[in-house]
Amino acid sequence: MVENARGYVMQETGIKRIWAPWRMRYIDGTHQDKGCIFCTKPEEDISKDRENLILYRGKKAFIIMNLFPYTNGHVMVTPYKHTGNIEELDNEEILEVMRLTQFVVKAMKSIINPEGFNIGFNIGRPAGAGVVDHVHMHIVPRWVGDTNFMPLLAETKVISEHIFDTYDKLKKALSEQGEL
Ligand SMILES: [Zn+2]
Repeated sequence: MVENARGYVMQETGIKRIWAPWRMRYIDGTHQDKGCIFCTKPEEDISKDRENLILYRGKKAFIIMNLFPYTNGHVMVTPYKHTGNIEELDNEEILEVMRLTQFVVKAMKSIINPEGFNIGFNIGRPAGAGVVDHVHMHIVPRWVGDTNFMPLLAETKVISEHIFDTYDKLKKALSEQGEL
């Protein structure tokens, strides 16, 4: 992995991903990192939710799309609490993370029809976490035959052109499902 002032270029088993420059070194485990995207994005005005790829704001957690997805439709469910440790989430937070996961899985099934999902947390750098200090549940839709999704990453620009398209569809499906 190479780190520089503009962000990260991260290499893992053939995956090369360019991370955004807003990422900053985390200093204090109890102090909110001003550079943490999972803190700064929901703090921005709701009118910027589309630009920020925030799909849904719950009471304790929110749903956001991954700007650098493993595959089209890759979303994350994240508690508002800034912590890298799932054991620091209280009952309400962990429950809402799971309920929002169900909520968005249901929406995905209705619009992009995945044949499977990878759902889970990457905790810590060795486990592949991109943002290590703020836990986030990954929800990655899967289709038979998509196991070699690495080439998609070479087409980051192509994906990003489609990401708002997927955002709009998911947003609509979620609003049709109503409140959590
Ligand atoms: Zn944070």
